[in-house]
Amino acid sequence: MLRITELKLPLNHAEEALPAAIRNRLRITPRDLVRYTVARRAHDARDKMDIQLVYSVDVTLKNEAAVLARFRRDRHVNPTPDTGYRFVAKAPANHQGPRPIVVGAGPCGLFAGLILAQMGFRPIIVERGKVVRERTKDTWGLWRRSELHPESNVQFGEGGAGTFSDGKLWSQIKDPRHLGRKVLTEFVKAGAPEEILTEAHPHIGTFRLVTMVESMRATVEALGGEYRFEHRVDDLEIETAADGTRTLRALVFQTGERLAVEGPVVLALGHSARDTAHMLHDRGVALEAKPFSMGVRIEHPQSWIDEARFGPCAGHPDLGAAAYTLSHHCRNERTVYSFCMCPGGTVVAATSEPGRVATNGMSQYSRNERNANSGIVVGIDPARDYPGGPLAGIALQRHWEEKAFAAGGGGYVAPAQRLGDFLAGRPSTRLGSVIPSYRPGVKMTDLAECLPDFVITAMREALVAFGRQIPGYDHPDAVLTGIETRTSSPIRVTRGADFQSINTVGLYPAGEGAGYAGGILSAAVDGIKVAEAVGRSLAALAPPA
Ligand code: FAD
Repeated sequence: MLRITELKLPLNHAEEALPAAIRNRLRITPRDLVRYTVARRAHDARDKMDIQLVYSVDVTLKNEAAVLARFRRDRHVNPTPDTGYRFVAKAPANHQGPRPIVVGAGPCGLFAGLILAQMGFRPIIVERGKVVRERTKDTWGLWRRSELHPESNVQFGEGGAGTFSDGKLWSQIKDPRHLGRKVLTEFVKAGAPEEILTEAHPHIGTFRLVTMVESMRATVEALGGEYRFEHRVDDLEIETAADGTRTLRALVFQTGERLAVEGPVVLALGHSARDTAHMLHDRGVALEAKPFSMGVRIEHPQSWIDEARFGPCAGHPDLGAAAYTLSHHCRNERTVYSFCMCPGGTVVAATSEPGRVATNGMSQYSRNERNANSGIVVGIDPARDYPGGPLAGIALQRHWEEKAFAAGGGGYVAPAQRLGDFLAGRPSTRLGSVIPSYRPGVKMTDLAECLPDFVITAMREALVAFGRQIPGYDHPDAVLTGIETRTSSPIRVTRGADFQSINTVGLYPAGEGAGYAGGILSAAVDGIKVAEAVGRSLAALAPPA
């Protein structure tokens, strides 16, 4: 099979235009083209009067070798890559050896658990939060009734932080082994729409994620894996040998229960397990501070973004709700960028800690809510902005999240401001034409009280610059809701080339919380990589058959 990339057709092309374009491109007759399938579909809307669909197609031809020889210098005609997943290790039949433990059932832990189960190692997955259905009720409790459950919320519980999200499933990570394809394939098996395998920017929205997570749990359990919910790892027992080697021996839960560690432990905590990060530090596990970003969520009517992006084609079913990516380097040397943009979605209360406010965005599969929202965040750096050790970034996040809680007036109401007032440096007293979607509600105020000065200065400059890229972006009625702090982990749980903690044998830090991923897909891919390292180490221990 051959893959042709960058095959462009106009937005409203007829179905038969695609095989015709393939034949033209390869200069072959209809009889030579045996079959074709779409491998990927994107759109190019740089010229909104002439939006193009951009295909990669896999073709089966009568004489592929001859065609390939003819196009040997053409980088858009190649043999189709093998994207199938192959296990790197397998447990012996009826494996009775040590069982790996996975801490955290977010995308990283889910995929680490799934791969280990598929290899036959019967993992134990421990998760501080509840099963996803119960967790859903608790999460909505904050949004509807201002009731925060500190152990069961948008950050904690089965499915992890990505469960109530836009469900964007792409990433810019380097992925030469096509592990992202394994993730998407498993998601489809678990109930995701098949189009995620071909769309360039797939998304699944929040409701489907709930049932997918349940389906993946059933798969892991059917393979001999085991879940323990409402089990928060509160302590580690680490044995130090005479030569200084530290080895993980047991996990201790909030109940006081102890789980002896027989095999490797994957630590897939996510970026909001601040209490656990403190515990790791207290137990001497190697941590370091890493950059992250802070800012606000911005909302515009989706129709403004669609119009600016797609012009007369706004609303076309093949395009869906328009997304955007923005970035601006400021005079104060700060970079401001859009983060986790959610077309046709809502801004959500994303705190996991009482007395603090943090925002994020989510959407349904249909992406047909009134507003587009996106984080507008400013990159910050440990050495420059929060010196003071590996946990200083957490202290910084907490400080500003408390300020935002106070500015909102309590009850997890978020502080908000019209963009026009924000740029003019005056508090907002009323909304304009844009109605914010954040629940339990917003208080119009001055966001300059809720973020460091350098963040505010950079955002003021960048929002005007963004208005030059997307006409109307800097409309005075656009609403800013604050504050966005959970963009990525402020710490890294440092690991070596073997994926193991650099100073604690048996501990495998993984995913977003450990600082090795950002987003659902990259966290899941990291989970696979770590599961492979764990699987290899367990297979090496197994007695020869
Ligand atoms: P997490 O998903 O955070 O999972 C960590 C798990 O560990 C949690 O379930 C937690 O309860 C558990 N845990 C923590 N501490 C302990 C402990 N001590 N003991 C036991 N268990 C513990 N990314 C995208 O790619 N696309 C999106 O559209 C998107 N939208 C988002 C929307 C929202 C509202 C949020 C909050 C995030 C969104 N993200 C999105 C980011 C994405 O969710 C994360 O990047 C991803 O979930 C990280 O995966 P993870 O498995 O590393 O960590």
